[in-house]
Amino acid sequence: MSPTRTPFIAGNWKMNTTPTEAARLASEVAEAVRGVAGVQVAVCPPFTSLAAVAPVLAGTNVALGAQNFHVVEKDGKLVTSGAYTGEVGPKMIKDAGAGWCILGHSERRQFFGETDAGVNRKIRACFEVGLLPIVCVGELLSEREAGQTEKVVETQVRGCFAGLPADVARQCVIAYEPVWAIGTGRTATPEQAQEVHAHIRRLLTELFGAATAEAIRIQYGGSMNAANAAELLAQADIDGGLIGGAALKAPDFATIVKAGA
Ligand code: PEP
Repeated sequence: MSPTRTPFIAGNWKMNTTPTEAARLASEVAEAVRGVAGVQVAVCPPFTSLAAVAPVLAGTNVALGAQNFHVVEKDGKLVTSGAYTGEVGPKMIKDAGAGWCILGHSERRQFFGETDAGVNRKIRACFEVGLLPIVCVGELLSEREAGQTEKVVETQVRGCFAGLPADVARQCVIAYEPVWAIGTGRTATPEQAQEVHAHIRRLLTELFGAATAEAIRIQYGGSMNAANAAELLAQADIDGGLIGGAALKAPDFATIVKAGA
């Protein structure tokens, strides 16, 4: 954690919780983190639960985020609604109460073919409609074993942030999530995570200058839990966490939030 960046802990509920379950979990989370200062908190339920969770979180210190949306680019213009059956656009999630959106999660890259160029388009759409993005990057186990971690993450960051002005980049949050650590119980060591976070910050300095790079929060994600959060969050360039499994248990999530405070 740094003395200048406010830590940010976000819960990614993935494809879990009905609206009823989500409202209950959100209420438990809000109660468990009530009054905890010095840390920013968000939960990201599925689309169908956003409208149910928004009123539960109103007036609390927990913000609401989504996990994805659809946008296309036609003739240089972003198209955020229209004939895309089954899809949900960014204005819809914003109007449902979301302030944040996770973009480019490895599960979306792996199972739904998301690319850095697509994430770049979604970042631009976020700022068009008034959402803030959490941009996920991270290497596969085979890439780490081949010594390609820094190269892979660098390509992702360059692609996702291509052409963005520094004042836009500054407001984005990056989540470094080694794919081999997601949902596996196998966490990166604090040193492994710090090494990649520092590399990302060096790259951001090259892309946007030192002041912007120093301002951008970089979360760690990948089996962060109540037991290992404090050690990870103690690292100089780890500015919070994107939490999957442990975010579904309010007491565990609250312990992580308090570790970030
Ligand atoms: C995630 O999906 O973003 C994640 C970090 O999951 P988990 O905490 O379960 O590894």
